[in-house]
Amino acid sequence: MTTSAAVLPIGLWRSGARSREALLRPMSGADQEFLIEAGSGMPPAVRATALLARCVERIGHEPVTPAVAAELAAGDREALLLHVRRLTFGDKLDPVVRCPNPDCGKNMDVPLRVRDLLVQPAAGDLPEYLERDLPDVGTIRFRLPSGADQAAVADLARRDAPAAARAMLARCAGWDERELPDTALNVVSAWMADLDPQAEIRLNLACPECGQAFTSLLDAGAFLFEESAMRSRGLYREVHLLAFYYHWGESEILGLTPSKRKRYLDMLMEALE
Ligand SMILES: [Zn+2]
Repeated sequence: MTTSAAVLPIGLWRSGARSREALLRPMSGADQEFLIEAGSGMPPAVRATALLARCVERIGHEPVTPAVAAELAAGDREALLLHVRRLTFGDKLDPVVRCPNPDCGKNMDVPLRVRDLLVQPAAGDLPEYLERDLPDVGTIRFRLPSGADQAAVADLARRDAPAAARAMLARCAGWDERELPDTALNVVSAWMADLDPQAEIRLNLACPECGQAFTSLLDAGAFLFEESAMRSRGLYREVHLLAFYYHWGESEILGLTPSKRKRYLDMLMEALE
């Protein structure tokens, strides 16, 4: 399968430097099936890790195992998921967003392009740990949140978001959670967001119905999962047609990318007309 290169915004920390060159491929039918079958039972961060380990072949010289994918900064994971989306289904996406105005609540299609959602990688490399002065606290040393950190606090985040933010900072700065003043929590969280802007994809929108302006977050992993689930009916229909007419095995057909399946199906439809 054809691979493509992408530059990570942060990069994997190895031997005192950042590896930022990633080599990845589009999802095959088997990856789509993995997402909608096995992936549906996984927590989102674990599912994203598993998909990245399947589709990202190398970062620098290092093969991408689930452990390596979990070690990546949150923004690098979002960037890679967006690249996987672009390679598999194209640059354009149309997420449906619901208007938050309680008197309206209309769903709207938001036409987007992956290339507009990708943050330009910074020119210089970030160190593994950052040090900054925090008034009344002193110098603090922290690293950026990774996929493993996201997975570790995911359960807590559903029940108690502020507690999850504290737990995240405790992991990234080696702090005792009970000792963390709230001001420190807010300041360091804002630093992290500045340092890894790709970690949170914010859409500034206005509702076409009621005119309400609002911000919506796009989670690349959740979007890809929902999109794959939505396309799954089409996937099995395509496998059926190719198996029926070409007599190929299911696993051979699932090894193809969606664009390659489409090419065979277009030829098949032409021949059948
Ligand atoms: Zn509205």
